[in-house]
Amino acid sequence: MSLPPLVAPAESLTPQEIRRYSRHLIIPDVAMDGQKRLKNAKVLCVGAGGLGSPALMYLAAAGVGTLGIIDFDVVDESNLQRQVIHGQSDVGRPKAESARDSVREINPLVNVVLHTERLDSSNATEIFAAYDLIVDGTDNFATRYLVNDACVLLGKPYVWGSIYRFDGQASVFWAEHGPCYRCLYPEPPPPGMVPSCAEGGVLGVLCASIGSIQVTEAIKVLTGVGDPLVGRLMIYDALEMTYRAVKVRKDPECPLCGKNPTITELIDYEAFCGAVSDEATSAAVGSTITATELKAMQDRGEDFLLVDVREPAEWEIVRIPGAVLIPKGDLPSKLAELPQNKPIVAYCKTGIRSAEALALLKNAGFKDAVHVQGGVSAWATQVDQTAPVY
Ligand code: ZN
Repeated sequence: MSLPPLVAPAESLTPQEIRRYSRHLIIPDVAMDGQKRLKNAKVLCVGAGGLGSPALMYLAAAGVGTLGIIDFDVVDESNLQRQVIHGQSDVGRPKAESARDSVREINPLVNVVLHTERLDSSNATEIFAAYDLIVDGTDNFATRYLVNDACVLLGKPYVWGSIYRFDGQASVFWAEHGPCYRCLYPEPPPPGMVPSCAEGGVLGVLCASIGSIQVTEAIKVLTGVGDPLVGRLMIYDALEMTYRAVKVRKDPECPLCGKNPTITELIDYEAFCGAVSDEATSAAVGSTITATELKAMQDRGEDFLLVDVREPAEWEIVRIPGAVLIPKGDLPSKLAELPQNKPIVAYCKTGIRSAEALALLKNAGFKDAVHVQGGVSAWATQVDQTAPVY
């Protein structure tokens, strides 16, 4: 499906712009008309992280006239493996400011607009309204549903990407011409079921593979060139090195863009997508200890079983002394082997997976089981500062 250009062309290009964009101008399908449309375009990139890095850099280089950057986070050393818009000297700086500086260095002709607040239902509509198209570079379900819903309600195209380990996906959701994200995924996955990149890892260069698809699609939609990924989902497998496009259809029953929509305004997306299940939240009440309390229990010589519910690759990086490894996914099949005569203390990286494990243990009758708040990350800050953090 080809679509008309989203953006009207700017009046003219300056001689400096003509020099800078000459390799675009001599492509017949882009030419002066397409480059003038890019000059007039206003694109918002949500998140200046893994996908946002290549997206912002190439959108800037391509000559998108106005680039909005929304990010409230600061650059962490663990970001640099893939978030190439930031450098070593940016560690500790706000990502939005660091990204703006890189964009200006790539292309000073771009008008950069910074939004350093956290995107939520109270500000999304107002922020999005100023842009033609939204590129999503975030990595959590709450933001994804928020961006989708705001784009549908405002009638704007939403260029979506997702990455995990060696796998990536991308699509353009645009309710006027095809499905929205909710047509594909009506409900977020149950809490704790889908690990984030922070939990599951991501091959750094995967961000470039998927981010470049997103920029390509943004440019196509803005200029009206080619067939955009509207109604198609691109699936990339880096290990097999395959790209596969599958058709995705609009769901007539979609609560947002279907025939009888029930969602007519933005909702509370944190509650909708909750990081921790209700079951885990209630299991953790009164059954949570701190890393310091765990250390004190060890020092007193208390008899308990310390269970690490993370994955083997994480266990290899760092572990709390005295622990045994039982990844959360293996726990249901190992319940019979756990001791009934002493308490169980579970921990993970940050305390979310261990809360889920705790709910499982309590359901299986281990009533005095507890978990460690903040997990091995808290252990590294509160107890053993020499322990590596990841
Ligand atoms: Zn829909």
